[in-house]
Amino acid sequence: MKTLPLYWEDPYMREFKAKVVKVEGNKVALERSCFYPRGGGQVGDTGVIEKAKVVDTVKDEEGTTWHILETETPFHVGQEVSGVIDWDKRYKTMRLHSAAHIVYYKMVDVFGSQCKPPASGIVDSLKDRSDYLFPEGLDREKLKQAETLANGFIAENIPIKTWTDEEGIRHWLSEGLPEMHCGGTHVKNTSEIGHVRVERGKKPGAGKERIEIILTE
Ligand SMILES: [Zn+2]
Repeated sequence: MKTLPLYWEDPYMREFKAKVVKVEGNKVALERSCFYPRGGGQVGDTGVIEKAKVVDTVKDEEGTTWHILETETPFHVGQEVSGVIDWDKRYKTMRLHSAAHIVYYKMVDVFGSQCKPPASGIVDSLKDRSDYLFPEGLDREKLKQAETLANGFIAENIPIKTWTDEEGIRHWLSEGLPEMHCGGTHVKNTSEIGHVRVERGKKPGAGKERIEIILTE
């Protein structure tokens, strides 16, 4: 059963009510949810459903979102419950996820064709970590330039649009940059990102570089 993804209808939704549709051990599935399930390089949301602590959120192959509880589920099928996500954590993740796309495009501007899209990565409330293929090595001066360009773009208060097409694919677009496919959650304007620092992380392997982004305000 597919869970209705409220985080796409409104990524700023923090609270919702829904009926329990499945329970299993320490997991509970609802008919709809604004808890983002881990995937697409973004961590799963945490929060509470009634008084039960949600420690992670995942999605199965059928599209069911499972809220993983700290304890055995106290809920029963058909019960109406209220959920609240950990908003501070989610909002920082949304700001960083949006920043990561802007930094990527500015890296392409600076590094040119040697800069390939991130091969893998994970964004949470503390950092975006994206592993790029960089067979020719990374020039630190150029990385600094990409950071400056990204912060310049962010400071322009540019709208960010996200939508679902007829095939169910999610799109991300910030004016002046190419569109990309992304199922994560994002802010609506670059002004919400503030300012970022772009750093070289621990080298993930030969020919690869880890680029880390943190919020500085
Ligand atoms: Zn995204």
